[in-house]
Amino acid sequence: MKTLLTLALTSAMAAGAFAQGFPSKPITIVVPFAAGGPTDVVARQLAESMRAPLGGATVVVENAAGAGGTIGATKVARAAPDGHTLLVWHIGMASTASLYRKLQFKALEDFEYLGMINDVPMTLLGSPKLPANTYRDFENHIRANGGKLNLAHAGLGSASHLCGLMWQSAVKLDKSMTTIAYRGTAPAMNDLIGGQVDVMCDQTTNTTSQIEGGRVKAFAVTTAKPLSGHKVLKDYPSLQEMGLKGFDLTIWHGMYAPKGTPADVTKKLNDALKVALKDPEFIKKQEALGALVVNDARATPAGHKNFVAGEITKLKAVIEAAGQFAD
Ligand code: ASP
Repeated sequence: MKTLLTLALTSAMAAGAFAQGFPSKPITIVVPFAAGGPTDVVARQLAESMRAPLGGATVVVENAAGAGGTIGATKVARAAPDGHTLLVWHIGMASTASLYRKLQFKALEDFEYLGMINDVPMTLLGSPKLPANTYRDFENHIRANGGKLNLAHAGLGSASHLCGLMWQSAVKLDKSMTTIAYRGTAPAMNDLIGGQVDVMCDQTTNTTSQIEGGRVKAFAVTTAKPLSGHKVLKDYPSLQEMGLKGFDLTIWHGMYAPKGTPADVTKKLNDALKVALKDPEFIKKQEALGALVVNDARATPAGHKNFVAGEITKLKAVIEAAGQFAD
């Protein structure tokens, strides 16, 4: 009995001492996609703004790409729950729960939710070689040539995969395009620019500068309404306006730690996240890319987890209607 009590006291003291000393080594943010893509951009900008509120800690980004983000997420779910290994992931945390029948982690059970980061619209893009210049011409071109064209995406279960599925199911193509999976948007975008693939739907975080530079063609945005306030994206119609009733897809990012990370450590991380989300530099950089940083209510662990639970239910219906799986 006495031994048990001593043990309990010792571990409680150790936990306290540990949290006080947190972080005791560099913090790694795992991005489950290739470097240079939308999730990577968000994580790197956030890492920069979280350094100061974490007392000048070293915060590095590690890309663990593959399988639509599920490889990196599995890695974090299995990492030591000490706050030094974190995950920044997007809507995939909710969509892969339905897109994959076999996953190595459970979205709502295997992570500590640290808070949401932003909301990001998507854009429907074509290679510069496509003959179409307007959404109408684009849709007609795909309808007529669907079977011969390629749709690039960032991996099975990625946001771009989800968007491509939703769009093809909404326009009811006779012949769907051949899908080509990459390890993230960055390599997929290179091939779209080069014309090796024809179509891609992806987050504005990565597409805005390519659209502005004329390296890809943009046809529509995936949000219910057009992005009228945005310098580059304001000229593109929403898919709803183009007749795709109810089409409304916004990607969001959140931050996670492995389940079992001590509460005082997750509190420190959440506090640092909230400070970063108010950093004017971070906000400015995100807005330039069409992303909107979330408010305090959504940056709480409870607000974040509730939101993801709702998205899992919502996306299950959408994915079942599209009738496709990633595995
Ligand atoms: N935007 C990608 C996706 O479609 C992932 C990425 O590279 O960030 O999921």
